[in-house]
This record gives sequence, C-alpha cells and structure tokens, in this order.
Amino acid sequence: MNRITQAIHGKGTISSMVHEKQGKNAPVSNRYLAYTKKCRPVIFWNVTARCNLACSHCYLKSGPGRAGTNELSTAEALAFIDDCATIPVPVLLLSGGEPLLREDIRELAAHATACGISVALSTNGTLITPEVAQAIHRAGIGYAGISLDGASPKTHDHFRNKKGAFADTIRAFANCQDAGVRTGVRVTLTRNNYHELEELIRLSLSLGASRFCAYWLVPSGRGMDSYEQLQLSAPEIASSYELLYQYAKKTDPRVMEFLSVDAPQDAVYLLTLMQQDKSRDLDEARELLSSMKGGCSAGIRVASVNHTGDVYPCQFSQDPVFLVGSIRERPFSQIWNDDKNPVLSLFRNKNDQFTGRCRTCSHLSLCGGGCRVRAYRQQNVFGDDDPLCFVDTGSG
Ligand code: SF4
Ligand code: SF4
Repeated sequence: MNRITQAIHGKGTISSMVHEKQGKNAPVSNRYLAYTKKCRPVIFWNVTARCNLACSHCYLKSGPGRAGTNELSTAEALAFIDDCATIPVPVLLLSGGEPLLREDIRELAAHATACGISVALSTNGTLITPEVAQAIHRAGIGYAGISLDGASPKTHDHFRNKKGAFADTIRAFANCQDAGVRTGVRVTLTRNNYHELEELIRLSLSLGASRFCAYWLVPSGRGMDSYEQLQLSAPEIASSYELLYQYAKKTDPRVMEFLSVDAPQDAVYLLTLMQQDKSRDLDEARELLSSMKGGCSAGIRVASVNHTGDVYPCQFSQDPVFLVGSIRERPFSQIWNDDKNPVLSLFRNKNDQFTGRCRTCSHLSLCGGGCRVRAYRQQNVFGDDDPLCFVDTGSG
C-alpha cells in the first residue's frame, strides 16, 4: 500500500509518526502499527466465502454458491480473536465474500473490540441498510471500505454481475456516515473502468468517503481467469497514477486520503512525480516510502486468514503453494512466530530470492521488489520479475 496523500502532504500524521514527534515513548496509535518495525500483523480475515454478488474479478471466487464451505464456527472464530489479542494484533479487517452474510459478524466484531483490537470492514455495501450501519457501529466497527468499481450503474453493475448493485452500494455510504462509521472507496482498476477514474474520485468525494484506495489487479481467484483481458497496460497505469497524484495533491488530506495498493513500484513513480514538481516534501516522502519498502508487507506486517482458518502471507496469495498453516491445527500466534516456517521465510527474506531485474535494481530499497504473487504467477518462480513493473530500473 502506497500512501500517496501522506507522502505528498509531508507534514501529515504518518510523517510525524515516522519522526516520532509525539515523543519516543508515547504509545503508538493502532492505525500506524502496520508501518512500524514491529512484526504485529494487520490481519485480512475472509470470514466467509459466501457472497450475495459474484464479481468478475473476485480474488476468492466468492459467490452465492459458496455456502457450506467449512467456515470457522463461532467458537473457533472467537478463539482466534482471543489468540490475536495475545500478540497483540493491531487491526482485524473483516472481509469476505461478503462479511455481513455471517450471522455472527457483529458478535465477532464486538469481541475483537472488547479485546482491544481495532476492527474494520471490507464490504460490497449492498446489505448496509440504516439499521445494519447502526449495528456495525455498536459492534465497534469504525471504518468500512466499500467496493465501488465504477462511477456509473452500467460499469459497476457489469463488474458486480448484478443490476441495482450500484444504487445499493451508493446508499451504504450515507447509511454508514449517519451511523458514525467512516467510509472509504476501494476500486480495482482494470481496462473496463479506468476511463471513469476521475469521475469516480469526484463521486467518492461527494459521497463523503475519507479514503480512496486504488487496487491494481493481482492474478488470483476469478481475477486470474480474466487477468490478461482486464489488466491495464503500462501507459494506462501511469496515466491513472498521475490522476491519483493530482487529486491527492489538491485534496485536503483531512477530507480524503489517496492510496494505491499491490504495486510496490508505485513508490518509485510517486517520487519521480514529486521530483518533477520540485516538492519540498520530497526528502520526507522518500524516507516515509523507504520505511514502507513499497508497501508490500505480506508475511511481515500483513497476514491473511481465510474462512476455513488457513493462513497466507496476504489475501491475494491464497494458493496451496503459499499456505503458511491452519489455525485449526495450531494457534495463529504460534504459526506467525515460527521463524522456520518455509513460506514466511520466503516472504520475510525475499531479497535473497530475486532472479531477475529486481536483484540489481537501483530502486530495490524503495520498492522492495514488486508483488511476489504477480511475479510467481508467470512461471511459478517466486523470485521472478513482477510483470507490472514499468519503471526504469537503472540496472543497465
Ligand atoms: S525491478 Fe523490481 S525492485 Fe525495481 S522497481 Fe521494478 S519491481 Fe521494484
Ligand atoms: S504480495 Fe502482492 S498482493 Fe500480496 S501484499 Fe504484496 S503487493 Fe499485495
């Protein structure tokens, strides 16, 4: 994840955390822990594979047909949360499928909150009525990331494979905000929607969303089946990123924060744009982005647990080859702290694995080596090049 806004608006909160302006011994707020050196992971928890939609790019192949897929029981899920509290995990992101389809979702959220864990929701928004929004808030969920894949019903409904999904999703923003739950927009940019990006940003601002997260496609689940057809070309990615940059520059960071996800090399491009702009925050941004190593924290400060309790380095790496373990066999805290785990070792020592351009790239310390899932998908080689990387590597 690259925090475009916080790199540009260098006097922002993350920068002050990097410089520890709050005092060396001051407690660090939960929302910043994903970017500290502590190995306390933010967990993306796919609480269910069930979904009321069946989106064409879903990384889990979720849908209405995924009922009865051996989901963790309520007792197992509560025990997992108790174990997370021992680490302690700073943030649990309840995702799916559609997490609101789990009948006990509010119980799980409330339990995590009571354990001192921040809880956020990742949802398609279509089930968030005013009553559901209030119940979410009562359960301690302070933020909902809502997927919006187009600025028009035509584009969004096509992606989501459901007529009327756009209208239901739009309503979710107001319902959440009325209930006191902050909202953000999550969009996966592809060939089918990138032309609506500017309109979508404007729509998101008008909806009162406080975050705009642009995801680049990762070949995973149904996103793998349609990858070649949907993935943007390098010039399309560059122009989309420049638009995000321009809006991040002119938007008050207290109103909306812009982020890009799953393309660590964006950090290189962001600094190039800031350099061209002669930004006075360039040095501070370089320091911030270097500390985040491109923003891919898979297996280090990010973990993924799926609906059956399988653990992976990140939510897009849900493939048998990247299986870290199962919380049904061993508590998450033990799995996570096992230095000998071969998959975790791979991700935690990825610099030793590179076989191609990343190995000699002058931007490696800034980028961290791109996305290892996308790289692996090419020829099943972990250290391969990330095919999305379009920056000049300066490696001759
Ligand atoms: S070659 Fe590798 S390290 Fe260099 S910018 Fe591209 S993905 Fe990052
Ligand atoms: S491995 Fe790729 S998909 Fe996973 S967190 Fe890193 S950049 Fe994102």
